[in-house]
Amino acid sequence: MKTRLSRLLVCVFALFVAYLPLEGQAEQIPLRARNVILLIGDGMGPSHFAAAWHYSNRVLNRDLRMSGLMKSGRTALLMNDSADAIVTESAAAAGQIATGQLMTAGVVSMTADGSVPVKTIMEMTRERKMASGLVTTSGITDATPAAFAAHVPNRSDENSVAEQQLKFGVDVLMGGRKQFFLPASEGGQRKDNRNLVEEAKNAGYTVVGNSAELKAAPAGKILGLFNMGNMVYEIDRAQTAEPSLAEMADKALQILSGNRNGFFVMIEGGRIDHAAHRNDAAATIRDTLAFDEAVGVAMDFAMKHPDTLVLVTADHETGGMSLIGNSKDSKSYVGMDLQAIAKVQASFQTMEAKWGKQPTPERIQEVVKQGMDIDLTEDEARTVASDSIKKLDPYNYSCDNLHSLAFVLRPYLRVGWGSQTHTASPLFLAGQGPGAKRIGGLMHNTDVFRIMKMALRLD
Ligand SMILES: [Zn+2]
Repeated sequence: MKTRLSRLLVCVFALFVAYLPLEGQAEQIPLRARNVILLIGDGMGPSHFAAAWHYSNRVLNRDLRMSGLMKSGRTALLMNDSADAIVTESAAAAGQIATGQLMTAGVVSMTADGSVPVKTIMEMTRERKMASGLVTTSGITDATPAAFAAHVPNRSDENSVAEQQLKFGVDVLMGGRKQFFLPASEGGQRKDNRNLVEEAKNAGYTVVGNSAELKAAPAGKILGLFNMGNMVYEIDRAQTAEPSLAEMADKALQILSGNRNGFFVMIEGGRIDHAAHRNDAAATIRDTLAFDEAVGVAMDFAMKHPDTLVLVTADHETGGMSLIGNSKDSKSYVGMDLQAIAKVQASFQTMEAKWGKQPTPERIQEVVKQGMDIDLTEDEARTVASDSIKKLDPYNYSCDNLHSLAFVLRPYLRVGWGSQTHTASPLFLAGQGPGAKRIGGLMHNTDVFRIMKMALRLD
């Protein structure tokens, strides 16, 4: 009897120690992470976050899930310079997050000369027999997902990335760019004539191509390829059968949580970056909101599985987005026109496809009216058609007509853009769960790797 009582006391004590509250965090958090969910908003700088925050609170009448994460967890300002530049891109940035080492632009998780692979957090978790997942709305072979399970000297070698991801045996792969899995005879980009979709099936993957198939897929390895190119922008998605990022995240977590050793998953809002490259405010906000829903899925999962570290960050800022103050006819501060943004029905990319090459001012007026319910003046439409702003600085403005469009839309939407490429704007890192207490102050994106490694006790 006495022994049973002392055993019980030992158990109670052990449980008490395992769930000791961490300093500054009211909730009881396990000391070691079993799972890590890393969410990366590609291109999501502070203004992208702020624009989505205002839109969510004032138009949708709800707060962002990212705000909730910041309130209940920890947040830090995050710098992201790479080995070779102040302004980085996704391969170097994701590589730095994945390996903890400084990387060079365009090189995927390798030393600067492209000769030696650098071990990634996903490779370390595989050694622990943990499950692994990569989910994105961009291409699954694009630089951010590539950096976790592949090593290539040049990020444009997406044929090799696809091969390596399957060879690695990543349990969950979801995104676009099916073209890199198919031979040329089937509309793909592969010159080696391999059909990686068939190879994946033979290796035990369930292969799905739309939202319904994703929902119906059984437990086990899954390869979801939802578009030959990138998946569509959230603002254009209603006309397609593609799943949302949140749907993909939900299915990924269902599958990965079946592994009793835990899992590591990277979930990317890949098209925030692409919308911002085009200086498309409405599409940027909608994709940031879609990313936020995926953050919500991760937080709901972590609520039920408190041994999960949830991290939210970005790789770099895109577009030099700024929420400017004044309208065309007022000097007083008013800020972003949320009602005008809420009326937008199509992405710039969709509108651009409609007006074609070298559009006339009249055609631009028609398409903008249809897609955005905005009546551009003749002067404004001529500015877009002549694209004179882009010609003054062609390396920072790379998309025909679109920065000129964003420029003439400034007084309507009250969103400005400093570039059509990436900027060195600081980012944020927010997290909750075991190990999140290490987040705070000013950090560098190489620290994200260390936070994950220490939370998982991968020593
Ligand atoms: Zn980019």
